[in-house]
Amino acid sequence: MQPSPQATCTVCSREFVRRNTMHRVCSPRCAIKTVKRAKSIERAEFKRRKEAAKSTSDWRKEAQAAFNAYIRKRDEDKPCICCGRWSESESRGGTWDCGHYRSTGSAPHLRFTEANAHRQLKQCNRYGAGRAVDYRIGLISRIGLPAVEALEADQTPRKYSASDLRAIRDEYRAKLKAMQ
Ligand SMILES: [Zn+2]
Ligand SMILES: [Zn+2]
Repeated sequence: MQPSPQATCTVCSREFVRRNTMHRVCSPRCAIKTVKRAKSIERAEFKRRKEAAKSTSDWRKEAQAAFNAYIRKRDEDKPCICCGRWSESESRGGTWDCGHYRSTGSAPHLRFTEANAHRQLKQCNRYGAGRAVDYRIGLISRIGLPAVEALEADQTPRKYSASDLRAIRDEYRAKLKAMQ
């Protein structure tokens, strides 16, 4: 028995005449749409799986990268927090880190605290042991002694789940974008 030659297009719902049972759409245009639709579903599914496979440590890294990028942008018009320089040498422009006053190693609970993080020359941050004493002087002049002392006294642990970290990443990506 022959299939009914009348059919409804699965994309645009128009009636069309079927050539065979594999014939599901009315036109090449709708055929292209089905392929695009399938590809976008596939892409979304791939992204979803990739995100689901991320560990808390992956999320923490992504959140930290987004936070750090925002801090560097926030302090774009300020010199290095610890030494007041604009560059590491006269001959080339400075390359910048987001330097944490209390380091993410010894005070991981302050890794996303904005008052604890400022733009710092890579040289100072990485090779000068963070230049803690000079950093403190610079920090006092930016946020004031009471805020510095509050940071120094802050031992409140923060627990971040994967979804908290994802929210932090997205928040700082958005904040960075808003500044650009
Ligand atoms: Zn159609
Ligand atoms: Zn410095």
